[in-house]
Amino acid sequence: MIRVGAGHDSHRLAAGRPLILGGVRIDHPFGLEGHSDADVVLHAVTDALLSAAALGDIGDLFPDTDSANKDADSSRFLLEACRLLRDRGWSVVNLAVTIFAEVPKLGPLKATIASNVARLLRISHESVSVQAKTGEGVGPVGRRESMECSATVLIERAG
Ligand code: MG
Repeated sequence: MIRVGAGHDSHRLAAGRPLILGGVRIDHPFGLEGHSDADVVLHAVTDALLSAAALGDIGDLFPDTDSANKDADSSRFLLEACRLLRDRGWSVVNLAVTIFAEVPKLGPLKATIASNVARLLRISHESVSVQAKTGEGVGPVGRRESMECSATVLIERAG
Protein backbone atom coordinates (compact mmCIF):
# COMPACT_ATOMS: atom_id res chain seq x y z
CA MET A 1 0.00 0.00 0.00
CA ILE A 2 1.22 3.49 -0.74
CA ARG A 3 0.00 6.83 0.60
CA VAL A 4 0.88 10.40 -0.29
CA GLY A 5 1.09 13.20 2.27
CA ALA A 6 1.43 16.97 2.06
CA GLY A 7 2.58 19.61 4.52
CA HIS A 8 2.92 23.38 4.42
CA ASP A 9 4.27 25.86 6.94
CA SER A 10 5.18 29.53 7.22
CA HIS A 11 7.04 31.57 9.81
CA ARG A 12 7.70 35.27 10.23
CA LEU A 13 11.26 36.53 9.85
CA ALA A 14 12.77 38.49 12.73
CA ALA A 15 16.15 40.04 13.49
CA GLY A 16 18.29 38.24 16.01
CA ARG A 17 16.62 34.85 15.69
CA PRO A 18 18.63 31.84 14.49
CA LEU A 19 17.83 30.67 10.96
CA ILE A 20 17.50 26.89 10.93
CA LEU A 21 16.22 25.16 7.79
CA GLY A 22 15.96 21.39 7.64
CA GLY A 23 18.00 21.19 10.84
CA VAL A 24 20.84 23.15 9.24
CA ARG A 25 21.91 26.37 10.98
CA ILE A 26 22.40 29.13 8.40
CA ASP A 27 24.43 32.26 9.00
CA HIS A 28 22.00 35.12 8.35
CA PRO A 29 21.04 38.33 10.20
CA PHE A 30 17.37 37.28 10.27
CA GLY A 31 15.81 34.08 11.57
CA LEU A 32 12.35 32.63 11.98
CA GLU A 33 10.01 33.42 14.86
CA GLY A 34 8.06 30.69 16.58
CA HIS A 35 7.46 28.81 19.80
CA SER A 36 10.00 26.14 18.86
CA ASP A 37 13.15 26.76 16.82
CA ALA A 38 10.69 27.64 13.98
CA ASP A 39 12.36 25.32 11.45
CA VAL A 40 9.80 25.84 8.68
CA VAL A 41 11.25 22.96 6.64
CA LEU A 42 11.10 20.32 9.35
CA HIS A 43 7.61 21.48 10.33
CA ALA A 44 6.34 21.03 6.75
CA VAL A 45 8.06 17.65 6.46
CA THR A 46 6.66 16.49 9.81
CA ASP A 47 3.15 17.49 8.73
CA ALA A 48 3.60 15.72 5.38
CA LEU A 49 4.53 12.48 7.17
CA LEU A 50 1.64 12.77 9.62
CA SER A 51 -0.81 13.55 6.82
CA ALA A 52 0.33 10.56 4.75
CA ALA A 53 -0.48 8.24 7.65
CA ALA A 54 -3.60 10.25 8.67
CA LEU A 55 -2.17 10.83 12.14
CA GLY A 56 -3.25 14.44 12.60
CA ASP A 57 -0.88 17.38 12.47
CA ILE A 58 2.15 18.79 14.24
CA GLY A 59 -0.03 21.05 16.41
CA ASP A 60 -1.91 18.01 17.75
CA LEU A 61 1.31 16.26 18.73
CA PHE A 62 3.39 19.22 19.86
CA PRO A 63 1.09 22.08 20.93
CA ASP A 64 2.64 25.53 21.26
CA THR A 65 0.91 25.79 24.63
CA ASP A 66 3.30 23.12 25.98
CA SER A 67 6.38 24.74 27.52
CA ALA A 68 8.34 21.56 26.71
CA ASN A 69 8.19 22.65 23.06
CA LYS A 70 9.54 26.16 23.71
CA ASP A 71 12.63 26.74 21.56
CA ALA A 72 12.58 22.99 20.85
CA ASP A 73 14.87 21.46 18.24
CA SER A 74 12.32 20.59 15.54
CA SER A 75 14.24 17.46 14.60
CA ARG A 76 12.61 16.04 17.75
CA PHE A 77 9.18 16.56 16.15
CA LEU A 78 10.28 14.89 12.93
CA LEU A 79 11.87 11.92 14.70
CA GLU A 80 8.70 11.40 16.76
CA ALA A 81 6.55 11.46 13.59
CA CYS A 82 8.96 8.93 12.00
CA ARG A 83 8.61 6.69 15.03
CA LEU A 84 4.79 6.83 14.84
CA LEU A 85 4.91 5.84 11.15
CA ARG A 86 7.48 3.10 11.72
CA ASP A 87 5.36 1.63 14.55
CA ARG A 88 2.54 1.29 12.00
CA GLY A 89 4.78 -0.38 9.42
CA TRP A 90 5.27 2.64 7.16
CA SER A 91 8.52 3.56 5.46
CA VAL A 92 9.30 6.65 3.41
CA VAL A 93 9.75 6.19 -0.35
CA ASN A 94 10.68 9.77 -1.25
CA LEU A 95 10.25 13.35 -0.13
CA ALA A 96 9.97 16.54 -2.18
CA VAL A 97 10.52 19.87 -0.40
CA THR A 98 10.14 23.40 -1.79
CA ILE A 99 11.42 26.32 0.30
CA PHE A 100 10.13 29.83 -0.43
CA ALA A 101 12.63 32.47 0.72
CA GLU A 102 13.66 35.79 -0.78
CA VAL A 103 16.97 35.81 1.07
CA PRO A 104 19.45 34.31 1.66
CA LYS A 105 20.16 32.54 -1.62
CA LEU A 106 19.51 28.91 -0.77
CA GLY A 107 20.93 27.37 -3.95
CA PRO A 108 24.29 26.49 -2.40
CA LEU A 109 22.56 25.06 0.71
CA LYS A 110 19.96 22.80 -0.93
CA ALA A 111 22.18 19.70 -0.98
CA THR A 112 23.21 20.16 2.67
CA ILE A 113 19.58 20.56 3.75
CA ALA A 114 18.54 17.50 1.69
CA SER A 115 21.32 15.38 3.22
CA ASN A 116 20.38 16.36 6.75
CA VAL A 117 16.66 15.67 6.24
CA ALA A 118 17.55 12.31 4.61
CA ARG A 119 19.72 11.47 7.63
CA LEU A 120 16.85 12.26 10.02
CA LEU A 121 14.45 10.14 7.95
CA ARG A 122 17.07 7.37 7.61
CA ILE A 123 16.66 7.27 3.83
CA SER A 124 19.06 7.83 0.95
CA HIS A 125 19.82 11.47 0.12
CA GLU A 126 18.79 10.58 -3.44
CA SER A 127 15.26 10.10 -2.12
CA VAL A 128 15.05 13.69 -0.88
CA SER A 129 14.62 16.64 -3.24
CA VAL A 130 15.00 20.22 -2.01
CA GLN A 131 14.03 23.09 -4.30
CA ALA A 132 14.27 26.78 -3.48
CA LYS A 133 12.13 29.61 -4.83
CA THR A 134 12.09 33.34 -4.17
CA GLY A 135 8.91 35.40 -3.89
CA GLU A 136 9.88 37.57 -6.87
CA GLY A 137 9.64 40.62 -4.59
CA VAL A 138 5.89 40.29 -3.97
CA GLY A 139 3.81 38.84 -1.13
CA PRO A 140 5.11 38.20 2.40
CA VAL A 141 7.94 36.00 1.12
CA GLY A 142 9.00 38.53 -1.51
CA ARG A 143 8.87 41.37 1.03
CA ARG A 144 11.18 39.33 3.30
CA GLU A 145 8.52 39.17 6.01
CA SER A 146 8.31 35.38 6.07
CA MET A 147 9.58 32.08 4.75
CA GLU A 148 7.37 29.20 3.68
CA CYS A 149 7.89 25.56 2.92
CA SER A 150 5.85 22.87 1.18
CA ALA A 151 6.57 19.17 1.45
CA THR A 152 5.14 16.12 -0.31
CA VAL A 153 5.98 12.61 0.81
CA LEU A 154 5.24 9.10 -0.43
CA ILE A 155 5.11 6.30 2.14
CA GLU A 156 4.62 2.55 1.71
CA ARG A 157 3.96 -0.57 3.70
CA ALA A 158 3.21 -4.20 2.98
CA GLY A 159 -0.54 -4.87 3.05
MG1 MG B 1 5.78 25.89 12.11
